[in-house]
Amino acid sequence: MKSTTDRIKELIEATRERCMEHYRHIHRHPELSYQEEKTAAYVAQVLEKLPMDEIKKRVGGYGLTALLKGNRPGPVVALRADMDALNIQEETGVPFASENQGVMHACGHDSHTAMLLTAAEVLCSMKENLAGAVKFVFQPAEEMTPRGGAQGMIEDGALENPKVNAIIGIHVWPTLATGTMGIQSGAVSASSDHLKLTVTGKSCHGSMPNQGVDAIVAGSSVVMALQTIVSRNVSPHEAAVITLGTVNGGDRYNIVPSRVDYDGTVRCFSQEIHEKLPCWIERTATHAAQAMGAEVKIDYQKGYPSTMNHPEIVEICRNAAEKILPENGVLPPLPVPPGGEDFAFYTLKVPATFAWLGCRPEGVSPEDMPALHNDKFLPDPKSFPLGVSYLVQSAVDLLETPLEDIK
Ligand SMILES: [Zn+2]
Ligand SMILES: [Zn+2]
Repeated sequence: MKSTTDRIKELIEATRERCMEHYRHIHRHPELSYQEEKTAAYVAQVLEKLPMDEIKKRVGGYGLTALLKGNRPGPVVALRADMDALNIQEETGVPFASENQGVMHACGHDSHTAMLLTAAEVLCSMKENLAGAVKFVFQPAEEMTPRGGAQGMIEDGALENPKVNAIIGIHVWPTLATGTMGIQSGAVSASSDHLKLTVTGKSCHGSMPNQGVDAIVAGSSVVMALQTIVSRNVSPHEAAVITLGTVNGGDRYNIVPSRVDYDGTVRCFSQEIHEKLPCWIERTATHAAQAMGAEVKIDYQKGYPSTMNHPEIVEICRNAAEKILPENGVLPPLPVPPGGEDFAFYTLKVPATFAWLGCRPEGVSPEDMPALHNDKFLPDPKSFPLGVSYLVQSAVDLLETPLEDIK
């Protein structure tokens, strides 16, 4: 008898060209976050041709969900893709380059959507053998921090009716070679918050600073004090970054300035630290400014939390990946990139695995491979059948696991 993995491989082979068609179409017609109207219509039109049990449109904006029920009782597993592009002028020169001036799929979300559509087709062909149900989640606006599309999807019930027991997602990863994947427990993306500071003093003549309160001197003290948070408050086993990327203040060389503005970003990898950072920043900045007789106004905007992979779901997904990748394709734990990802919001609700799919073509060095968000970024299409196989095999294996017991 043919094994499930062999059957999956056959189906992936049969859908390979269709996956490329989806990819090229979506790449050619990129849309910005919260404007994915045509992409959503394309996704709907593909899903409507499949024997889905239910399709919901306009979930959290232009998002969609589709439900496929198996023949036997079992858990509910969600597979997620993001659909939005970026405001970048494409410079790849490929025949299917963006026709939308100044907008480009430079983060690979076109490939994520194409792979999930293909996985949906493959899983539909396996419907009779499936336990439980698969929910396909196509979300808008991943790039729109602090209000990414995942939050809207969750608020509109994407994880309910039926209740999702586990969710998985992938991201093409240009530093990793095609044929490899990074799948690991714990944090796999950083939380990313936006920090704005305004230090206020009192203006006076530069020759008589005693008559005012120097906002530049007070601000400098605030900046230096903030750097002690990472070294003195954050545990040596944890990591965090506080970066003030801009500073603006002062009008003239001989005037003590009354105001300085700072703009920056705050990153970390744990939920506990993420909750404490705003209080630490407030306390430190306020007192450092007050020590100089100045005041500080803090505008702290929480962005995406960090994506937390669940060890038991990771274990099942790693085993699934071993069945479908070339030998040694499943990589040992990798350093966690300090970027943000709104898949994080699902991981706060449901046990999850977010995996990196290697998409660097053979013969291209990691240094020569354009990064995500670069105007020349293109994932290796040879990685797509592997991504589809991973989604399908992981879904099938998760559906055979009593996920209701996993907390
Ligand atoms: Zn991106
Ligand atoms: Zn992305």
